[in-house]
Amino acid sequence: MRSVRASAPQLAAIEPYDPKYIPADVMISANENSLDVPFEIRREIEHEIRKVPFNRYPDPLANDLRDMIAEANGLDRDQVLMGNGGDELLFDLALAWGGPGRTFLNFPPTFSVYRNNAQLTNTAIVDVARKEDFSLDEEAILARLAQGDIDYAIVTSPNNPTGGLATGNIVRAMLEASDALIMVDEAYFEFSRYTVRPLLEEHDNLVILRTFSKAFSLAGVRMGYLLGNSAVLNEFKKVRQPYSVDAVSQAIARIVYANRAQFEKGIDAIIEQREVVFDALNSLEGVSAFPSDSNYILFKLDERIDAGKVWADLLEAGVLVRDFSRSAGLENCLRASIGTPEENERFLQELVRIVNMT
Ligand code: PMP
Repeated sequence: MRSVRASAPQLAAIEPYDPKYIPADVMISANENSLDVPFEIRREIEHEIRKVPFNRYPDPLANDLRDMIAEANGLDRDQVLMGNGGDELLFDLALAWGGPGRTFLNFPPTFSVYRNNAQLTNTAIVDVARKEDFSLDEEAILARLAQGDIDYAIVTSPNNPTGGLATGNIVRAMLEASDALIMVDEAYFEFSRYTVRPLLEEHDNLVILRTFSKAFSLAGVRMGYLLGNSAVLNEFKKVRQPYSVDAVSQAIARIVYANRAQFEKGIDAIIEQREVVFDALNSLEGVSAFPSDSNYILFKLDERIDAGKVWADLLEAGVLVRDFSRSAGLENCLRASIGTPEENERFLQELVRIVNMT
């Protein structure tokens, strides 16, 4: 049998994305919504799916959804673009604005997918690290942008996994510091109730990423979207897979979006529970939680406690959180999504038991 020649050289530095998704009683590792789509909405979805012709290609741009989202955001159809989850649109960003000889400005610690996409597309990466409290280093960012060689940057607001918001002022300053395309990743914006959407009126180099995976309980369906100016989105259209958003997902997302007001109560509950979990974590000796505007909380264990071991002990007790303890800038940190009150209580109980034993 012939051996196989090596894959593209840029893959050597890349590990396949592994969310470490292990079945557990309490799944609070992936920032999902613990509550599935309400039963009545699921019934409506089933009815809608019955009408989908499976033998025909879907509408490639999902124009019905674009119209709904455009209307809700005071925009036109050509200022909205759908994707197979936010992930596809993040990849498309690297394809369209990255590449050999191009440069991506990253603000670690943040979502690791950005870096991977840059590596995959042979895009140079410039890091401007966050400050100790994980806020953005505005001075350093603006100075770096002013050099004029940055092609695109991604500002995550709220940031994953650290939880804090980027304010409109810092985003505006970035938009004015250069002509780089600035993506603001608002995957979790419904939990902060804060958006930089107003900045779109005056800034052609802004594009906003959103997703149905979190607030709208559709992580399993894969639906994300961009808001931006039509010329920018036209470049995304050139690199996207024509049929990435399938007909069934389009039908599901239409019904969910039409019923989005029904998700508000669940979002309120998560915001309320976030305070409960934050206070409980900070009242524990040896644990400090970072303030969050999102549906998860990052917390750091002091050096006497091995976070990797706490992660394993929690899993043993049926609670899956995310282990960042070996990630640069996040040493000895774990992240827990905000679940239902019962899930949060079980997580906190087990954490108290485990930390008190060490
Ligand atoms: N951006 C951030 C910051 C995320 O955390 C995620 C999901 N983990 C995404 C984008 C992409 O989400 P999805 O592909 O499910 O829309």
